[in-house]
Amino acid sequence: MFLFQLTCTDHKSKIPEKGVSYQLNERRKKTIDSIRYNIQLDIPGKKNESIKGIETISFNLNALDSALVLDFNSDSTHIISVQSEGEEIEFEVANQHIVIGPGGLKKGHNTLTIGFIAGNLSLNRSDEYLYTLFVTDRASTCFPLFDQPNLKATYSLTLSIPDGWEAVSNGSLKSKTSRSGKCVFQFAETKPISSYLFAFAAGKFFKTEKTVKGRPMTMYYRETDAAKVNRNKDEIFNLHAKSLSWLENYTSIPYPFEKFDFVLIPSFQYGGMEHPGSIFYNESALFLDENASVNEKMARASVIAHESAHMWFGDLVTMDWFNDVWLKEVFANFMAAKIVHPSFPEINHELRFLLAHYPSAYEVDRTAGTNPILQDLGNLKNAGTLYGAIIYMKAPIVMRQLERKIGGKLMRESLGEYLKNYAYSNARWDDLIGIIDKKTPLDIADWSNVWVKTPGMPEYTLSNEPKTKYSQKQDSVSNRTWQQTVGYKDVKLGQKRLYFPNPDGIAYGYFQMDSASTSYFFRNYNKAGDSVLSKPVFRGAMLVNVWEGFLRGDGPDAEEFLKDVLLTLPKEKDPLLTDYLLGRLQSLWWSFLSDEKRNKYQSEVEKVTWNLLNETTDKGIKKSYFRAFKRVALSDDAYQKMESLWNKTLVVKDLTLSEEDKISLAYDLAIRGKGDVKAILQTQLDSTKNPDRKARMQFVIPSLSQDEAERDAFFESLKKPENREKEAWVLDGLSNLHHPLRSGSAIKYLRPSLDLLQEIQLTGDIFFPTRWTNTTFSGHSSAEATHIAAKFLHEHPGYPYFLRNKVLQAIDMPQRAARLKR
Ligand SMILES: [Zn+2]
Repeated sequence: MFLFQLTCTDHKSKIPEKGVSYQLNERRKKTIDSIRYNIQLDIPGKKNESIKGIETISFNLNALDSALVLDFNSDSTHIISVQSEGEEIEFEVANQHIVIGPGGLKKGHNTLTIGFIAGNLSLNRSDEYLYTLFVTDRASTCFPLFDQPNLKATYSLTLSIPDGWEAVSNGSLKSKTSRSGKCVFQFAETKPISSYLFAFAAGKFFKTEKTVKGRPMTMYYRETDAAKVNRNKDEIFNLHAKSLSWLENYTSIPYPFEKFDFVLIPSFQYGGMEHPGSIFYNESALFLDENASVNEKMARASVIAHESAHMWFGDLVTMDWFNDVWLKEVFANFMAAKIVHPSFPEINHELRFLLAHYPSAYEVDRTAGTNPILQDLGNLKNAGTLYGAIIYMKAPIVMRQLERKIGGKLMRESLGEYLKNYAYSNARWDDLIGIIDKKTPLDIADWSNVWVKTPGMPEYTLSNEPKTKYSQKQDSVSNRTWQQTVGYKDVKLGQKRLYFPNPDGIAYGYFQMDSASTSYFFRNYNKAGDSVLSKPVFRGAMLVNVWEGFLRGDGPDAEEFLKDVLLTLPKEKDPLLTDYLLGRLQSLWWSFLSDEKRNKYQSEVEKVTWNLLNETTDKGIKKSYFRAFKRVALSDDAYQKMESLWNKTLVVKDLTLSEEDKISLAYDLAIRGKGDVKAILQTQLDSTKNPDRKARMQFVIPSLSQDEAERDAFFESLKKPENREKEAWVLDGLSNLHHPLRSGSAIKYLRPSLDLLQEIQLTGDIFFPTRWTNTTFSGHSSAEATHIAAKFLHEHPGYPYFLRNKVLQAIDMPQRAARLKR
């Protein structure tokens, strides 16, 4: 018998790196199949007592040439024993893995039994309940397994829990018995699912059952306000039933898992998580208040439709590797829009889609640090680095274009085939493209290579060619042709013809407009009775065109643009477009105008925003004007108004200021430094009732100090990881330090902030590195600031690709501002 013994040098090479590398993923996929987990966990009533577990993993091994690697990302002493077919075997625990030599295994069917203590990291334990959240590779923080999405397995779970607790998991409840004062819940074996989708929750939950159109569903929840529950519960069940039937009809595949329940959890990390048979939701997203707005109702219907769509897109067919995680998210949103939009005819969905996706996608895609939709991922532990505006904002645009290109019918057929071919298994984006490519004469593979696999956005200019009118500029990167049609509207003006590219806002890219068309657009903004100019989508699309042109030095200059925006605002009554215009106003104001020019326009900017704040009747738009006013205000008169609003000596009709608004008003007053800053902040702190907000204020206040030494000390404190734990608080502080009015004194924080970035990636949440760099550079518009970043990157040639991109993205706007400032 071969004994598992390794020399020291061998040893290192045989232990895989931390996390799940792509190589480990590939090797295991080739050699392991037919995996079944049987997991028993003994959950104590107290959250600090450890959870003991026994697990049996059976699987088929078709090669014995290397050690078997299981993932267990917890304390190595938590592995108590490992047995193969009932015999103790040797194993090693290192680099978040359990490594078992081939001597303890055999070719063919194997059964391992492992005694362990479950790691708590992803168990979200509180006093009365706990729940798992295992996405992306977090199941291995709890128990040993092959933690990669393409090794689908069945799970049989048994939970021993305190009496009086409820428990729910992916499988239905098979039996519930009593054993030594505890309650034992045994769940049925699941269908094959990916490890990140395995889930359970246990604790003091209420539950209510309902059968809608023959489909029984159970809702677990914590909310104690019975009236609130009763007001919402029928609608929640109905929305689920409606989504599921719609999806069954669209895919021609019956709901693919054995039962359907959902669990509403207070302060759940996301809106929802699509565990098959047991969706977890953030409770507040589903239990709405009595006077919930249309937007809140649509958001609820959307999250329910989104998670329901995942049962097919993501759960039945799962990405092979997490680099395709974008795909399941895009499909879920895509289906949710189809399911939900018809029920909300009062909302302009086209305009919403345009303003929610295109500007944010361009903000990244026009920079030197952009990335393709489909990215490389070397190790699952870095999956967080894939997320960003390109996945969330550009991918939905691209998917919508694909459907328009091939037609809704072919799209549906292709998705149906994709789901059938890869049911209970895994597929890549290219597998879907292969299916579509066979059904159409169009070159979809080529389309995908450009749109999905390469970064950046195309640029179009007006050409003399009568048929296309807008033609793609020569690509600076390669000879890519971006397959898409670019429409236009034209208007005859005397002898001249004016052109307005991309009037429906569907095409993606930069569409150049000439100055005559731009000025006609602004002069006739929202002209009543004009079938083109009065369309909200047209206005949105043109505003985006002009902004993109401006940033490329290819449109009005900053001063002209500001004047155009000021003339346009009173003509705009749509809340989404008003917000977009106010956003542009603030960028122009702080980043693209010199101090001199700000002086020149100060009173006019304040007058326009103040008057509109007072005149507008729409409460939402009023709030937008209030926020814009306090941000652009600089004169003594405006300061007085802000202060009087804050201390309630001045009241604007129908403008209700929440505690959050008051706090941010106090911050804006403090940064102006015209009054007694300390007294203002102290008064605000004393009158703030909510304890979370109070604590947040206490943390943030030093960043607002007029004393530069105190601000320096605040920045110094951020170098300690324990002072960065509340990331939202840190970002508040950073945006104060780097406020444009203080950017001169904040230049010295830039280099140390970049020096910290790698550490921040290790210690922070997945979105934190991006937010940290963006906020750091947000208030800067000088060449000096961007040189610091350029020098930093130059001095670190081997800097991680992903972080380098984040830096390049963050300095794009300051670079353009430094170039275009007037
Ligand atoms: Zn999702």
